Amino acid sequence: MKLCRFNDDRLGIVEGGEVIDVTGALDAIPASRWPRPQGDALIANLDAVCERARDLAGSGARFDADGVLLRSPVANPTKVIGAPVNYHAHMEESIKDEGVSFGRDIKTIDEYGLFLKSPVLVGPGEGVALHFTDRRNDHEIELAMVIGKTAKNVAYEDALDHVAGYAIGLDMTVRGTEERSLRKAIDSYSVLGPWLVTADEIADPDKLDFAIHVGDEERQNSNTDKLIFDCRKLIAYGSSFYTLFPGDVIMTGTPEGVGPVTPGDVMHCYCEGIGRMDVPVRAA
Ligand code: MN
Repeated sequence: MKLCRFNDDRLGIVEGGEVIDVTGALDAIPASRWPRPQGDALIANLDAVCERARDLAGSGARFDADGVLLRSPVANPTKVIGAPVNYHAHMEESIKDEGVSFGRDIKTIDEYGLFLKSPVLVGPGEGVALHFTDRRNDHEIELAMVIGKTAKNVAYEDALDHVAGYAIGLDMTVRGTEERSLRKAIDSYSVLGPWLVTADEIADPDKLDFAIHVGDEERQNSNTDKLIFDCRKLIAYGSSFYTLFPGDVIMTGTPEGVGPVTPGDVMHCYCEGIGRMDVPVRAA
């Protein structure tokens, strides 16, 4: 199932170019008092929400998917985990490009580990608001995994059992000397969309084509089979540091071809098994 959050926080099923309004399925989420349980309430109750959504789909209002405003399908993750230099070809381009490396010695995820981005996500319909437009602001397209259940010290073999679904992530980045977690956590620099594809629809997340065009120009085009830490290893490794909660997002890392965007650009993103999303860029 493809589940989206659209317009004024409505819940939709995406089917064949249409969005079916199944907002009533949110009634399957139990009410909670303070303190709320950690994690995203929709993802924590995803099975019940999907079951109710299926029941409602026959009678739900239908919209053209191109005509709705798509927000991040995950509203309240406790964290968005980033995977630095998780493709060899991106390491090689970063070494060559002073505008990426800023004089740093570039290594891979084997040495860097992980980092945290802001847990505040935007969807494609909200777009990216560039800060510091006098500096270089880059797109990084990445496969994003959405964690389905609370987990710690997950075994490699069991890792994908902890995934609720997948989406396209944009790990937007202002280049510079500051820590990654500062430069990649600017408001609107964490994009998730266009919807959540439940895990049952993706047979092998380590074998997905994905690409991004800026305007007519192809910038990045790769396959997740080139990941250094594959999807299972990212979950196992990440969960050895952090308890993962429902709705937590792991952006799996970006391949070669990162490059700048400027206000007025539109980023056209694609991932096999997920779909397409257009993300406009503006000045903040
Ligand atoms: Mn990245």
